[in-house]
Amino acid sequence: MPDICLCLTAETMAQNNALFRQYRSHVDMVELRVDLLDASEQENLRADPKAGVSDFHGVDSILTVRREVDGGHWKGSETDRIALLKRMLSAGFTHIDIEADLPGLPDRLGIVQSARAAGITVIASRHCMDSVPADLDTELQRLSAIGDCAKIAARPTGIADFRRLLHAARAHAEPHVVLGMGSYGVASRIMGHAFGNLFTFSSAADVQQAASGHIAPDVLQTLFAHGKTGSVTRYFAVAGDPVAHSKSPEYHNRRFRADGLNALYVPFRVDDFDEFMELARELPLSGISVTVPHKESAARAAATVNEGVTATRACNTLIREPDGAYRGVNTDIEGFLSCIRDRLSTFRGATVLGAGGAARAAVYALASGGVPVLVCNRTLSRAQTLVAELGAILRDQGQSAPLSAAALPGDGTELGVYGDLIVQTSSVGMHPDLEGDPIPAYRFGGTETVYDIIYTPPMTPILKRAEQAGCATVNGSGMFDAQADAQYRLFRTVLP
Ligand code: NAP
Repeated sequence: MPDICLCLTAETMAQNNALFRQYRSHVDMVELRVDLLDASEQENLRADPKAGVSDFHGVDSILTVRREVDGGHWKGSETDRIALLKRMLSAGFTHIDIEADLPGLPDRLGIVQSARAAGITVIASRHCMDSVPADLDTELQRLSAIGDCAKIAARPTGIADFRRLLHAARAHAEPHVVLGMGSYGVASRIMGHAFGNLFTFSSAADVQQAASGHIAPDVLQTLFAHGKTGSVTRYFAVAGDPVAHSKSPEYHNRRFRADGLNALYVPFRVDDFDEFMELARELPLSGISVTVPHKESAARAAATVNEGVTATRACNTLIREPDGAYRGVNTDIEGFLSCIRDRLSTFRGATVLGAGGAARAAVYALASGGVPVLVCNRTLSRAQTLVAELGAILRDQGQSAPLSAAALPGDGTELGVYGDLIVQTSSVGMHPDLEGDPIPAYRFGGTETVYDIIYTPPMTPILKRAEQAGCATVNGSGMFDAQADAQYRLFRTVLP
C-alpha cells in the first residue's frame, strides 16, 4: 500500500509544523515545499537548515524547491535554488526531489551525488502541467537512471491519458510514483497500489493545495483505506462527468469498511465511456456505478442486461461476471420508487421534466405503477422518442398507462392531473448549474408534489420555489440511498 505523504504548503515553518501535528496520525511522510515559504523563512532555513526538519521526527521527509515551470513558486535564480538545495542536504531530510527534465541543469549531478553520499533518497521528477507526455516509458527509464525513485506528475486531459499513465506505471519495474494531476487524475492518487506507486501526495484541507487533485490525508486513510490493508483485492468505481459531487465513493467505501471487506471504490471523471470500459477490463473493476452522462453508453457496453435496462435503455450499475463480461442492471427504478411508493395510487398523473437516463427510469417506474405520465424536455424530439419507445415496451408488458410528450411548461401552462406529481430529472440545479431552474416561468399552484431527484445540493432552486408556493417536496437523497443500497447488494455478490 503506498505511503501517504503530506505536502507542507504554508508560508511559515510554524504553520507547517502545526499542519504536521494535525495530520500526524494519518501520514507516513511529509514533503516540505520550501518554494512556498515566504522569503524570510527561506532565509532562516539557509541560516539553520536543520530547522527545516526539526519537528518531523519519526517520518520520512522530502526536500523540494519547486520551480514555476513545474507548478511551484520559486522566484529566484536557478543558481540560488541549487545552492539552497545543496545547503540543505545536511538538514536531515530522508529524500530530495530533483527535477530532471531540463538537461544541463547546473550542478544537478553534483547534488545527486552529494545527496546519495549523505544517505538521502533521490526522487528524480518530471512535471507536465498541461498534458501527458508521449514518451512515458522512456522518460521513466531516464528518471530511474538519475535517481532512486522516478516520479512523473502529468495532467491527463481525458480517460485515455489516464490509461497511458497506468500502462507506463505498471510496465516500469523500478521504484516510482506516477500521478495524474487535475480532475481526470484523481483516481491515480487514490489507487496508487494499482500503479505500483511508492507513495501518494496529499494536502491538508482548507490550505493551498500542492497540486490540483490532492486529497486530504485523513480522507485518504479512512475513506480510501490507505495504509489499512496490505493490498486491495477488488476495485469498484463510479464513472461520470461531473463526478466530484458524487456521494457514491463515501457511501460504498463506508459500507465496505463496515463489512470488513478489502475493496476500494474510486471516482473517475470519464469523457469517453468506451475508453473507460477498456480501463475497467484492464484494472479490472469488479463493479461500476454509472452516472451522468454515461448511462445510455453503459447500457450499450453491457454484455447482458436486466429488464429495467432494456426498458429504460439506461444502466447505472455494471457487474463483472466471472468470464470478465459486464452485466448491466438499473437500480434507479427501485431507488426512484422508494420515496413515493406509498403515495403512488394518489397521483392521477405525473409530469416528468427531462428525457435522459434518469427520466426513463422515472417514467418506467410511474407508468408500470399505473400513473399516466407527461414527459417534458428542452429537446422535444427526445421526449417524443422516449414516449414512443417506452410506450411500446409497456404495451408489450401489458401496461396501459398513457404517455405523452410536450415542451417544458412555462408561464400559464396548466398541467391538470399531470400536476399532481412533478418529477425533476434534468441536470439543471446541479453543479455547475446550481442557480438553474428548468421551468423558471412555471407557477406552482401549491397542490403539486414536487420531486427533484438531484441530491447535491439537497435544496435546488425549483424545490425552493415549490416549497415557497406550499407544495409538498421530495429531494433526491432518499432515491440516492435506495439505489445505492441496491447497488451495494449487487457489489456484494461479486466479492468473496
Ligand atoms: P442525462 O441523461 O444527461 O439527461 C439530462 C437531461 O437534462 C436531459 O433531458 C437534458 O435535456 C436536460 N437538460 C440538461 N441541461 C438542461 C438545461 N439547461 N435546460 C433544460 N434541460 C436540460 O442525465 P440523467 O442520467 O438523466 O441524470 C439527470 C439528473 O438526475 C442528474 O442531475 C443526476 O445527478 C440525477 N440523478 C439522481 C439520482 C439519485 O439517486 N438521486 C439518480 C440518477 C440521476 P436535453 O435532452 O434537451 O439535452
